[in-house]
Amino acid sequence: MKRTVSLIEGDGIGPEIAEATVRAVEAAGGELAWERVDAGAAAVDRHKDPLPAVTIESIKNNRLALKGPLATPSGGGYRSVNVTLRQHFDLYANVRPVRTIAGVPSRYTGVDLVIVRENTEDLYAGVEHYVDPRRTAAESIAIITKFGSERVIVYAFEYARRHGRKKVTLVHKANILKMSNGLFLDCGKEIAQRYPDIAFEDMIVDATAMKLVIAPERFDVIVTMNLFGDILSDLTAGLVGGLGVAPAANIGAVEDAAGVAMFEAVHGTAPDIAGKGIANPTGLMLSAAMLLDHVEQRAAAERLRKGIYAALGDAATRTGDLGGKANTAQYTDAVIRAMA
Ligand code: NAD
Repeated sequence: MKRTVSLIEGDGIGPEIAEATVRAVEAAGGELAWERVDAGAAAVDRHKDPLPAVTIESIKNNRLALKGPLATPSGGGYRSVNVTLRQHFDLYANVRPVRTIAGVPSRYTGVDLVIVRENTEDLYAGVEHYVDPRRTAAESIAIITKFGSERVIVYAFEYARRHGRKKVTLVHKANILKMSNGLFLDCGKEIAQRYPDIAFEDMIVDATAMKLVIAPERFDVIVTMNLFGDILSDLTAGLVGGLGVAPAANIGAVEDAAGVAMFEAVHGTAPDIAGKGIANPTGLMLSAAMLLDHVEQRAAAERLRKGIYAALGDAATRTGDLGGKANTAQYTDAVIRAMA
C-alpha cells in the first residue's frame, strides 16, 4: 500500500528539485503518494500565511513530510517556518548522514558517518535576557533535561542498530559544563549498557573537532546536544563537499507510530539560480532515500542511491555546481538510467 507524504516543494529552486525528486523516487519503485501543500513564501502568496493550517493538518495526518528549502526573511517579516515546524511537531532528533561521494569534489575519502543532533533544548531553548538595563551584559541559558537527552540518545542507538552501524560517539563538554553536559553524558553511559552490540565512547567537543579533520573515517554515529550538533553537522558536510549534496531527517518520536518525520535538503532556496532549471536536486533526492528507509522501503531507497551515486560519478551527468554541464532534468534522467 502506498504511503502518503506531505510534499512541501518550497521556494526558489524548491519546485524544480521537488519535481526531479518525485520523478526519481517513482522510477526507483518508491510506493509513495504525494499530497502537495504550501509553506514559506509560496504559502504567503496563496494563503496569506507562511504556514497554513491545512499544511499542518496534512503533516499531522500523514506523519511524513518531504520539504524543499523555504525562504526566511531576514530581520522583519514572518518567523522561520523551519523552526516553527520543528517546534510544532517536537522534531527532537536531527539526523544528518555524511558520506564521501565519488565525483563530488572534497578533501577526504572514506568518510561515512551520521550526526544525530538534539534539536529542541540546550542554548537554543530561547532562555535569554540582558542582565542590566543598559544592556552591557547578557545571559543565555542552556537547558538540558533527562527526558530530552534520553530520547535522542536512544534514537542514536536504535538508528545504529537499524543501519548496521558499530559505534556511537557521544560528544560533550562535561569537563567544564559539569551539570548540563554531565547529565547528557550520564544518560549516554547508562543507555549504552542496553546496547552491548554497539561500541560506545564519549569525547570532548574540541577534541572531536580536531579528530574530525584529522581522521573523519574513525567516526560512525555521533550523538550530541543542539549547539555542538549544529556546528559539527556543517563541519562534517564540509568534509564531503558541502551542503549541496547533504540530506537530513527531523524525527519526532522514537518507535512511535504517532511521531512525525520530516525529510529535507539542508541547502537554501538558491535565489540566484531559481527558475533556470540548473539546480542540483541531490540533497532532496538523498533526503527522499532516507524517507524510503524510514518507511521500510529499503529496496527503493537503495535503487535511488545507486542511481544518484552513478550519475554523480560521471562528469558528463553532474550539475554545474559540481563542475558538470548537465541541467536538473539531464541529471535526473541520468539518475534514473543508472538505476536499471
Ligand atoms: P543557499 O543555500 O540558498 O545558496 C548558497 C549558494 O549555494 C548559492 O550560490 C546557491 O546558488 C548555491 N546552491 C544552493 N543549493 C543549490 C543547489 N541545490 N544546486 C545548485 N546550487 C545551489 O543559501 P542562502 O543564499 O544563504 O539562502 C537563500 C535563502 O534560503 C534564504 O531565504 C534562507 O533563509 C533560505 N534557507 C533555507 C533553508 C531551509 O529551508 N532549510 C536553509 C538555508 C537557507
